[in-house]
Amino acid sequence: MKSGRRISVFCGSSAGRDPAFSALGRAFGEALAARGHGLVYGGAKIGVMGAVADGALAGGAEVIGVLPHFLAGKEIAHAGLSELHLVDTMHERKAKMVELSDAFVALPGGFGTLDELFEVLTWAQLGLHGKPCAILDYAGFFAGIEAFVERAASDGFLRPEHRGLLLFGTRADDVLDAIERYVAPVVEKLVSPEQL
Ligand code: AMP
Repeated sequence: MKSGRRISVFCGSSAGRDPAFSALGRAFGEALAARGHGLVYGGAKIGVMGAVADGALAGGAEVIGVLPHFLAGKEIAHAGLSELHLVDTMHERKAKMVELSDAFVALPGGFGTLDELFEVLTWAQLGLHGKPCAILDYAGFFAGIEAFVERAASDGFLRPEHRGLLLFGTRADDVLDAIERYVAPVVEKLVSPEQL
């Protein structure tokens, strides 16, 4: 991946109990900005989401938010973004984020974060895109997901060639290095986009 691309970040609409989660979000936003990348995210000013946007904006990055109308009150749109796309549904939000982005990174969050990460991973698995998907695993937060991947692979639910579709890193720079040098594995195209 060349520099100056757009990275989608999926992360909590909550801040979590430990201020370190928001600090991690802000530092990740700053780190991607420092490398000349842009940010695509859910458009809110709250939680870890808001912290990532603030870090990226402070670093001078282009920041694009994608927020459904019905969440604009609840998740509170960030007022300082380069662009804010208001969409009608959650499905449209994810599709728009995928269309706008060259890579996807999950930071600590809840169900929404996992939903978004696993949807883009399943699209990669189906051969619908070849964009890198990564987890920034702060303080073992995602150790359960890493264990699940191992288990699913050893029990035959995850093909060996699909395991490498999910990258893990413990520092922002490790994750950014991994996505910048990522070469998509050859994945058998299981469906065409029209079939989804
Ligand atoms: P959470 O990790 O649960 O705090 O959610 C993080 C983000 O994911 C928030 O912007 C949520 O609105 C969003 N989200 C939650 N559920 C879904 C879903 N089913 N599809 C897409 N985005 C979702």
